[in-house]
This record gives sequence, structure tokens and C-alpha cells, in this order.
Amino acid sequence: QPSNLRYKRVILKLSGESLSAAGDRGISGAEVAQIAAQVKSALDTGCEIAVVIGGGNILRGAQFSGRTNSVQEATAHYMGMLATTINALALQDALEAAGCQTRVMSALSMDTICERFIRRRADRHLSKGRVVVLAAGIGSPFVTTDTAAAQRALELNADVVLKATRVDGVYSEDPEKNPHAVMYESLDYAEVMEKNLRVMDATAIALCREHGTPILVFNFNKEGNIVKAVAGESVGTWIGP
Ligand code: UDP
Repeated sequence: QPSNLRYKRVILKLSGESLSAAGDRGISGAEVAQIAAQVKSALDTGCEIAVVIGGGNILRGAQFSGRTNSVQEATAHYMGMLATTINALALQDALEAAGCQTRVMSALSMDTICERFIRRRADRHLSKGRVVVLAAGIGSPFVTTDTAAAQRALELNADVVLKATRVDGVYSEDPEKNPHAVMYESLDYAEVMEKNLRVMDATAIALCREHGTPILVFNFNKEGNIVKAVAGESVGTWIGP
């Protein structure tokens, strides 16, 4: 990771579980407020921030459809996209309570509760210092919000994808299962793919690789990490060309 980077614009990918209490599902007001406060501090450094919010704390399409025969997989993915919108609305209010100006923009139209994602409009909101919360991923089933983070990073010319997770970075094995797993400080895209490391889904990695967009994987649970990530400090695993 190059030292002393200061990003102008970032995509912050927050998983749905960043909004729930540890080991729990759904939304915890305390967690949402804590994340919002971190985003506000990061914004105050002068960085433009678009948040791509996940929905896994409520529903993931692939998992849900695997458990039922009565709901088609495509339907379940749309349900997952709605879950991200529920999270987006909670995050919006928490961000505003923390003193940020915000817009929720959704890839699926829900005109009465948020704006539709329009690239040039999103770009303008960001330039004005508003936090843009991107809901409903890319609006199509069978992908995840990781892919949306990569996609929006490209079209909004973000400098980096900041992928906030509940572990410190990318490990050789699942650190929650194997305590001897080692954390990588940096990786290139090819290594991530060859070693089949579970960082983001393959489509997201491929998109970032093709366009040279770096990814920083770090722990959202550590106070101050989002600010450090935005400031280009090494807080996790750096994935780049
Ligand atoms: N989803 C989708 N298309 C998208 C983004 C999300 O179909 O562009 C669905 C998918 O089923 C996914 C769910 O929404 O599992 C919730 O998103 P995700 O799993 O990425 O949430 P996270 O794991 O980040 O909390």
C-alpha cells in the first residue's frame, strides 16, 4: 500500500451485519449510531464518501432460496435488495443525527422514500459533501453488494473500495475457525483469485482488477478504523495491482 495517501473519494462497503449487535441479526440502534459517528469523522477529514450498504443482517437471496422451495431464487435476491434499503434508511437517519448531509439513492425505484440512482446526480451530491448511501446494490439479482461496490467505484471514479468487515483483514484461512490463520498485509488481485481467498465475490474482484481499483479490507469494529482507512493509513489488507 502506498504511504500517505489521502483519498478524495471513496466507496465504503458496509455489510449489513455492521448494523447489528455482535452475534445478532436485524438492526441495532446503538451499532448504527456508532457506524454513523465513524462515517461523520471520516467525512470531516474532507473525503467524499459513498456508502454501499449490504443486507445480510436481514436476508441474503442465495441463502434464503436455498432454505425454501416456494420462493424462486431471483425473487429472494430482490428481497435481499429490499433488505439493503431498510438498512439504508436507518443509516441515513443516524448519519443525519450525527451531523452529515445525506442522500439515499436506490438502484430500484422507490420514489416515495429515496432517490433513484442516477450517476451524474450521485456525483454532484458527493461533490457537495453529502454522504450518498447506495441501496439495492446494482438492482439486478444473482450478485451481491460487493459487486455493487466495485461497479459504483468505477462509475463514480472513487479512488478505492474500503471494504469494512468484522475481521482485521484477509487471512490465509477463516480466522474465526482457525486461530493459526495468518493475515496478509497486501495482496495482488491474481493472488486473491488463485488462492481462492474469500474477500469479495469474484465479479467484484474481477471488476476492480480490470480497472486497477484498489481494495482495502479492514475491521469496522475497531473505533477509528474508518477514519484511518480514509486517510490511507494501513489498517488491514491492501489489494492492488
Ligand atoms: N442483492 C442482489 N443484487 C445486488 C445486491 C444485492 O440481488 O446488486 C441481494 C443478494 O441476494 C444479496 C442480498 O441482496 O445476498 C443482500 O446483500 P449482501 O449479501 O451483499 O449483503 P452483505 O453481505 O453485505 O450484508
